[in-house]
Amino acid sequence: MQIQENFSLKKYNTFGIEAKAKQFVAVHSVADLKTVLRENKSQPNFILGGGSNMLLTQDIQALVIHIDLKGKKILKEDNDYVWIESQAGENWHELVLWTIDQNFGGFENMSLIPGNVGATPVQNIGAYGTEIKDTFVSCEAMNIATQQMKTFTKDDCHFGYRESIFKQEAKDQFIITSVVFKLTKRNHKINISYGDITKELEKQDVITPSLKDISNAVIAIRQSKLPDPKELGNSGSFFKNPIISKEKYEKVHILHPEMPHYVISETEVKVPAGWLIERAGFKGKRFGDAGIHKNQALVLVNYGNATGQEILNVSTAIQATILQKFGIAIEAEVNVI
Ligand SMILES: Cc1cc2nc3c(=O)[nH]c(=O)nc-3n(C[C@H](O)[C@H](O)[C@H](O)COP(=O)(O)OP(=O)(O)OC[C@H]3O[C@@H](n4cnc5c(N)ncnc54)[C@H](O)[C@@H]3O)c2cc1C
Repeated sequence: MQIQENFSLKKYNTFGIEAKAKQFVAVHSVADLKTVLRENKSQPNFILGGGSNMLLTQDIQALVIHIDLKGKKILKEDNDYVWIESQAGENWHELVLWTIDQNFGGFENMSLIPGNVGATPVQNIGAYGTEIKDTFVSCEAMNIATQQMKTFTKDDCHFGYRESIFKQEAKDQFIITSVVFKLTKRNHKINISYGDITKELEKQDVITPSLKDISNAVIAIRQSKLPDPKELGNSGSFFKNPIISKEKYEKVHILHPEMPHYVISETEVKVPAGWLIERAGFKGKRFGDAGIHKNQALVLVNYGNATGQEILNVSTAIQATILQKFGIAIEAEVNVI
C-alpha cells in the first residue's frame, strides 16, 4: 500500500476535473483499510469509489482513500432466491452483467449505472422504476473513528429517494466494504412500464423479454440519451427531481399547466427537474467549457477544461433561475466537494 502525495484525481472523477489530493491511497482489503485509518488518525480523510457522483471544486486537503476491494460470490440460495455478496470496489455494471448471465433478477433496470458497489447504498441508486433498496439485504461498513465493523440492515439504512443514512446521520462516519443483495431465481418481478423500455423492446421485436433483453434495452436507451463520461465529462443527473407539496404544485400549475408531475402521495408531488431546467432556457447552453447537455437538461457537462467551480457556478445559476421562475428549489444529487 503506497500513499502518494499531490495526486491528480482527473482520471478518478467522471467529470474529468483536474483536482489534486493532498494524499492518495488505494486499498484492496479490509485489513489494509484498517491499517490506513489507524496509521493516519490525525489526518482528515475522503472516501472515493468510482468518482461518478461528485463534483470536485477544489483540491482535497485530505487523505483520499480509494476503495478497491474486489470479489463477488453467492452466499446462499433456495428454490426462489439467491443471496449474493459483492465487495465495495466491484464495478456496479459488471456485477449487474454477472447476475444477468446467471439469470438472477433484480438489477436489470439498473444496467449501465457507472460507479462501484460500495457507493450504491449511499444514494440508493435507481433507474427505470427500480432502486437498490428493492434488492438490498445488508452491508458491512467500517467505523472510521474506531475501525470496528458494523452491519447495516435495510431498515438501518433509512433509504429514500437518492437518500440513505450514509448521506445523513452517518455521513463521513462509515466506509462500506461489502453489500449483500437478494435476487430472484425464478418468477422475476419484471418492470418494463417505466420510460421507453417497452418501446425499445418492441423495436427489437421482443415479446416475452428475458432479463438480458431488459438489460439490453436499458443499455440501448441510456447510450442514446446520456453522454458517455469517457467522451464528455459528466456525473449523470446533476439535480434531484424536486418533491413539492400538493398545495405548492397547484399554485405553480395555474401558471404552468403543461408542467409534468408524478403524484407520490396524498400530500406530495414530484416534478421533473429536467423539464424545469429546459423551460428556464438552459438546455444546451454553454458557458466556456461548462455547460448543460443538448439532449439532457439534467446533465451538466465538462467540454474539456472546465473547473469544478465553473460547473458549480452554472448549477447555482440554474437553481436561482428555477427558484425565481417557478418558486421551486432544486437540490444537487451530485456530491459537491
Ligand atoms: C453517465 C452517468 C449516469 C448516471 N446514472 C445514474 C442513475 O441512473 N441512477 C443513479 O442513481 N445514479 C446515476 N449516476 C450517479 C452515479 O453513477 C451513482 O451515484 C454511483 O453509485 C456512484 O458510485 P461511485 O463509486 O462512482 O461513487 P463516488 O462518486 O466515488 O462517491 C459518491 C459518494 O459516495 C461516497 N462513497 C463512495 N464509496 C463509498 C464507500 N465504499 N463507503 C462509503 N461512502 C462511499 C463518496 O465519499 C461520495 O460521497 C450516474 C452517473 C453518470 C456519470
